[in-house]
Amino acid sequence: MAVIIDGKAAARKIHEDAKRRTAVLLEKGIKPCLAVILLGKDPASVSYVSAKEKALAQAGMDGRDLRLPASTSEAELLALIASLNRDSLVHGILVQLPLPRRIREERVITAIDPAKDVDGFHPVSLGRLVLGQAGFIPCTPHGITALLRELPVPLDGAHAVVLGRSNIVGKPLAILLSRRDINATVTICHTGTKDLAAITRQADILIAAAGKPALVDAGMIKAGAVVIDVGVNRVDDPSAKKGYRLRGDVDFKAVAEKAAYITPVPGGVGPMTIAMLIRNVVEAAERAG
Ligand code: NAD
Repeated sequence: MAVIIDGKAAARKIHEDAKRRTAVLLEKGIKPCLAVILLGKDPASVSYVSAKEKALAQAGMDGRDLRLPASTSEAELLALIASLNRDSLVHGILVQLPLPRRIREERVITAIDPAKDVDGFHPVSLGRLVLGQAGFIPCTPHGITALLRELPVPLDGAHAVVLGRSNIVGKPLAILLSRRDINATVTICHTGTKDLAAITRQADILIAAAGKPALVDAGMIKAGAVVIDVGVNRVDDPSAKKGYRLRGDVDFKAVAEKAAYITPVPGGVGPMTIAMLIRNVVEAAERAG
């Protein structure tokens, strides 16, 4: 039976560190501030934004809560970002994704000042990541590598298989894992991959970020592998209070029988994502101060 990786406990340590660093900044008269922009009332986005704002308050930081109607135009959103870029009291800017389809996500992300790009989605941040230069690292991949580093398993030379190639998880994660400081050999799988199971079975470390509930079953993993489940999928469950429950991309019960380490959903990668965001905000404020 696998050891269950406690993402909440690992996240707590990062929050404590951010809180200490915030206290140092507060003494200098600087209060780290993240502007959080949310368009519309998508329930998942509302719950993500609320969790981020709660974490900011707990760390002693300011959260500027900018909830706008779903009808907000791209021009209005870009004007808001431009004003936040100029505002010296704001250290980080986060636009909760996804945006309504008529708004070009790429234009919005690119409008954020890279110095305030605490999500790490700006082309400048991603370029720095590829080149190994200092910059903001996207929070979910950063959180995953932090979890992996805490495990008593060798990462150097390990075969890591990343299932998913999104700009916010799969791609940056593959880059991070292949950097010299981790030194894994990385394979990226996606919808074009032939015989997925034949590849995932070779993984010492398997990271599932496909957004497909229970896609990874026990037959797809090597015995003793480390399995990181990024997926957060709402599946209908009439017996649950909310009418749904969260499922990862991994068939947890079956895979836990075979893996050496596994993250649960919820309580694995999710808390680390928020912790890394808080860390990025304090870092942005330190750099600005
Ligand atoms: P995405 O939809 O942008 O990308 C999914 C990727 O998986 C695609 O590149 C696609 O090629 C690949 N894929 C999908 N189905 C596949 C299949 N059957 N076989 C092989 N490849 C397949 O998703 P994303 O934004 O990267 O998010 C992935 C999942 O992670 C979602 O469930 C999302 O909710 C979750 N997520 C969680 C956190 C967190 O903090 N826990 C953060 C970000 C995303």
